[in-house]
Amino acid sequence: MARCSVCGRPAVICYRDSRRCLCAEHFLEHVESKVRRTVERYRLIRPGYRVLAAVSGGKDSATMLGVLSRLAGEIGFELIAFHIDLGIGEYSVKSRRAAVELARQLGVPLVVASVRELLGVGVPELARMARRPTCSVCGMVKRYLTNAAAVEAGADAVALGHNADDMAVYALKSFLTQDLEAIGKLGPKTETIPGLAVGRIRPLYTVTEKESFLYAYLRRLPFLHEECPHVSNRQTEIILKEEVARLEDRKPGLRLQLLSKLARRAGDYPRPPGEARACRVCGLIAWGEECSFCRLTRRTLGEPMGARAREYLRSLLEEAGLAPRRKDGA
Ligand code: AMP
Ligand code: ZN
Ligand code: ZN
Repeated sequence: MARCSVCGRPAVICYRDSRRCLCAEHFLEHVESKVRRTVERYRLIRPGYRVLAAVSGGKDSATMLGVLSRLAGEIGFELIAFHIDLGIGEYSVKSRRAAVELARQLGVPLVVASVRELLGVGVPELARMARRPTCSVCGMVKRYLTNAAAVEAGADAVALGHNADDMAVYALKSFLTQDLEAIGKLGPKTETIPGLAVGRIRPLYTVTEKESFLYAYLRRLPFLHEECPHVSNRQTEIILKEEVARLEDRKPGLRLQLLSKLARRAGDYPRPPGEARACRVCGLIAWGEECSFCRLTRRTLGEPMGARAREYLRSLLEEAGLAPRRKDGA
């Protein structure tokens, strides 16, 4: 049996690139110190920040919230968890339950927004009405609502649960489709555009999928083990995930090398053409006259719902006693 390279107790994981093995205790410490180093190296969170952590109910957001809740006291920032009930049948019911249980266990305040409560339909119906793939509508709705919630909460950063495997897959996919602007957004953080968009941070940038799962499991954090029913095995992301795992197996360390280089070079990729501006309906980030959320809801529901969404999120935050702090102290 493999033994921990630090203390000699039975190991729970062995790393092929460094040839080290770690016991449960030293593994948990290792993940926490990796996240701490990412936060420091890339200046993801500063003391006094208010961080809105987007939690899906899955293992990655469980690990992210678990580690961030430990770092909050140490660094001195405020943490709010945010979950979106996407209205994807039983899957969303279970995801929501996991998110609620996770936040309760960690003692982090949670706000839950429901797409059906806001729009009258769930994401699958919305996608059908828009005649667009469910996952693309879902991604857009999640991005919009998370950003809107962060703006309404006066948050300084939105924390996302993407792990190192996810990021390597997105980088490869964007390269294969030559979506160079997308590669530029795949570093550990994106910048805040005041009033329009809150910067996004990825605390699990160097934490692999396996580590993320093992951390949530060993800390006994509640999470949903199921995948979304709309994910298909034919999706490019799923295929690339297997390929990245295969590459990593033959060349241990490759994935993290790619990401640390990408973190340095992300700024060299082209930015989207044109200027970011305020959506004329809701005032949040748009690349044309209207943001994609307002455009899609206008087309499908007959009314652009951005402004309504902001109002809805503001009322949820107020109910939870999380209305924004005034930065000027007034
Ligand atoms: P995904 O887009 O499903 O790969 O998820 C990427 C990240 O987005 C997750 O790690 C979460 O931080 C966030 N996220 C995904 N789904 C939700 C959700 N239903 N509610 C809140 N945040 C979510
Ligand atoms: Zn040990
Ligand atoms: Zn809008």
